[in-house]
Amino acid sequence: MEYENGYQQQISQSRYECLLFDVDDTLYPLSSGLSAECTKNIKEYMINKLGIDESKVPEMCIKLYKDYGTTMAGLRALGYDFDYDEYHSFVHGRLPYEYLKPDHVLRSLLNSLPIRKVIFSNANEAHVAEVLGRLGLEGCFDDVICFESLNSKTQITNNPKSDNEPFGSTPKSPIVCKPSENAFQQAFKIAKINPHKTMFFDDSIRNIQTAKLTGLSTVLVGSSQRMKGVDYALESIHNIREAVPELWDLVNKSNDVRSSRKIAIETPVEA
Ligand SMILES: [Mg+2]
Repeated sequence: MEYENGYQQQISQSRYECLLFDVDDTLYPLSSGLSAECTKNIKEYMINKLGIDESKVPEMCIKLYKDYGTTMAGLRALGYDFDYDEYHSFVHGRLPYEYLKPDHVLRSLLNSLPIRKVIFSNANEAHVAEVLGRLGLEGCFDDVICFESLNSKTQITNNPKSDNEPFGSTPKSPIVCKPSENAFQQAFKIAKINPHKTMFFDDSIRNIQTAKLTGLSTVLVGSSQRMKGVDYALESIHNIREAVPELWDLVNKSNDVRSSRKIAIETPVEA
């Protein structure tokens, strides 16, 4: 039947079949204060557990985050050896998660989109689950790619501690995380994602720029400034509908087709 084919065609023509989301400072705002607490914990870990000189920590923390995507990945690149679970429980396990409140607006926005949704976070599984739970977003996502997905325990290698490594030389980290292109490619493979049919949301411009290179459509969250590699820029994730109305095109189209089909079927009965 003609309208059946039309319906199929509209579905297959949909530009997006997956939405890929970062978690921290993307699904909730930076102003929640959670990330500031996280940074505080990272600094404490560096001083108390790794014995790094307190005066060097602030600058080192920023530089490693910038060069490696996470401070943790940077610390491993510099040769610091530590247990990943212990690090995560020190840094994330002690966070004041009560700062995050259920976000009903975001939940209904996500639920109104009949598109597969996947989380892609550098954080560990427990942190992602806790954040999604606090935001009241349980069940909104089909898959979660997080630290453990890309870094299995057996991959931990004992790099020789290289204190003498010149700071600017950026040695390679054994940890796989955004913004490395390898992290994106692995995530696509694990979650069976076609980047050309996926829209990616993240608050980090570096993650967005690598994402763009892999073929993803990109949405920078937390800033309305459009920069290179940014397809859309949103002050808040709450603005998705206004900024990217095309995501709802499929919903509207399928509703239109359904109602026109209903009329077509019902007409003979009414006649
Ligand atoms: Mg983030």
